[in-house]
Amino acid sequence: MKTVPKSMFCHAMSVKNRPVISVNPGEIFRVETEDCYSGSLRSPKDIFTEELWKKGVNPATGPVFIRGAMPGDVLKVDILKITTRAHAVMCLQHGIGALAGYVEGVETSLFEIKSGKLIADRGVALPVHTMIGVIGTAPAGRAIRNGVPGEHGGNMDCNRITAGTAIYLPVNCRGALLALGDLHAVMGDGETAGCGAEVSGAVTLKTALLKTRLPTPCLEADDCVYFIGSAKTLDGCEKVVLKKAVTFLTQCLGLKPNEAARFMSLAGDLEVCQVVDPLKTMRLRLPKELFRKLGFKTFAAIVARKKAGR
Ligand code: CA
Ligand code: CA
Repeated sequence: MKTVPKSMFCHAMSVKNRPVISVNPGEIFRVETEDCYSGSLRSPKDIFTEELWKKGVNPATGPVFIRGAMPGDVLKVDILKITTRAHAVMCLQHGIGALAGYVEGVETSLFEIKSGKLIADRGVALPVHTMIGVIGTAPAGRAIRNGVPGEHGGNMDCNRITAGTAIYLPVNCRGALLALGDLHAVMGDGETAGCGAEVSGAVTLKTALLKTRLPTPCLEADDCVYFIGSAKTLDGCEKVVLKKAVTFLTQCLGLKPNEAARFMSLAGDLEVCQVVDPLKTMRLRLPKELFRKLGFKTFAAIVARKKAGR
């Protein structure tokens, strides 16, 4: 299995980035990732300084060139497995995050990860649910820094992007140029203090190319599909994700607009991913059970139906 070391990273997603490896669709590969602080906080004495900001945050390993990917395709990325090191780090800073005014000074905390639990403040054990904060393809236009989420994916900080799910991303250039990093062992919706339990690790992946149109980024889990959107405000995010879900229900499932609106109002859950990045991110959850009731066995069947243009 090919492995990309974490030393091969980029700080922005761009069509100009030189790929570090090439893989075939269907090939299983492994990507090692550094934490969002570029691994510079190793003890509570280490503080995230201006100098470290300049050195760069949110390294994403890659980009990985996916053979055969062409603009207009959709890249499906199956997240097969995530492993992490045994300690996660958080650096709180006054003035940073939605909790900016409540945070005093600057404080780095290291938390042990043991038997599937993160040992947080006062020994409180929280269940580990490792997620990928940054995952994306090269955007169509100018380079986008890894700290920023968008239509290409990027810093979505969606805690549902985890092992066992598949993220669907747009292909804007030959090879797609997939990059990822910023693992969090634990993170609540919103990421309100501006960081999760930041941790380095490794992700095992597999890709597939879909010659179809699908509102991206979207995420497939066992029981549901999420449409993800980012904008300056949560009001803006809401508009972006609702449009994606309506597009999916009308164009991919063939529902009439009012039918789509009723289903979304009855069964769609509008949820917050994060409120602390340069753009905020929300997701709209639709249960797969809804598709089954409408006569579609799987999400893949819906995508295949769209491909055939029926
Ligand atoms: Ca992040
Ligand atoms: Ca992070």
